[in-house]
Amino acid sequence: MSEHDELKNKMYEWTEKYANKAGYRLNPDKEALDYVLDGLASRIEKFGRRYCPCRIVTGDEDEDKKIVCPCIYHKDEIEKDGNCHCELFFKPS
Ligand code: SF4
Repeated sequence: MSEHDELKNKMYEWTEKYANKAGYRLNPDKEALDYVLDGLASRIEKFGRRYCPCRIVTGDEDEDKKIVCPCIYHKDEIEKDGNCHCELFFKPS
């Protein structure tokens, strides 16, 4: 297995744990979920941190802290829209 795929697996394990703990569920669309996990793994490879794959990394450390997954926005987004911006975490059905 490539290093990238190993990272993706780690991201999957981590997101599943977090979703369980927080009372969310992961995107039931496996392809969409895979896309976000792929993005998270790529962010780690590029920046060394779990930055949100669908937000812009500015280079300003204080700003970028806000978008380390799970970002500061996800709870409100899930409450309001039913899922976070990246469609990783969903409200339980
Ligand atoms: S929008 Fe979703 S995937 Fe992106 S950082 Fe927030 S919680 Fe993580």
